[in-house]
Amino acid sequence: MATVAILALQGAFAEHGRALDRLGADHFEIRQRSDLGKPFDALIIPGGESTVIGKLLMDLGLLSPLRDRIVKGLPVFGTCAGLIVLSKRVIGGTPSLATMDITARRNAYGRQLGSFHTEDRFGDLDKLPMTFIRAPCIDSVGDGVEVLSRVDGRIVAARQGRQLATAFHPELTDDLTVHRYFLEEIAGLRV
Ligand code: GLN
Repeated sequence: MATVAILALQGAFAEHGRALDRLGADHFEIRQRSDLGKPFDALIIPGGESTVIGKLLMDLGLLSPLRDRIVKGLPVFGTCAGLIVLSKRVIGGTPSLATMDITARRNAYGRQLGSFHTEDRFGDLDKLPMTFIRAPCIDSVGDGVEVLSRVDGRIVAARQGRQLATAFHPELTDDLTVHRYFLEEIAGLRV
């Protein structure tokens, strides 16, 4: 049985756990360096505040070991602040794990009025619900990055190899499409 680790330093990590429960995937939370001793097959980085998550990754000694694992092929899925944490370039912020060849624009929809809900296509799949909360967008992507979704012309989901990033929060809707896509298509896990 596959096990997914959820980075649980700050933000909406519990909601990812509920989505994984509904898919029947085993999971546990990473809160400190010793948690990296447990085996896991994939990692989720939740939404929250990217500056706080980035600082805690550094302070807790999680930054280098997680970056090493992602670079070596650990499947990773970042939502919202998690997208920013994965981005090599951040407009209005500081790169953290910096493993994905994308440029994130923080608070792309404004700080206060930036929360909205819409539906749009994801890759080859049908439309799905997308909840945005003070979300970033992706300004540009490097070679080898596949754009999966655009909303009003802005890139809001992308994949680079075994890394997936969404500006929206699939864990805050009932729709399990993106989590299933991550586990099955990207991580190659059976759920
Ligand atoms: N605005 C937040 C940041 O810059 C992201 C918001 C979210 O994750 N919902 O980190």
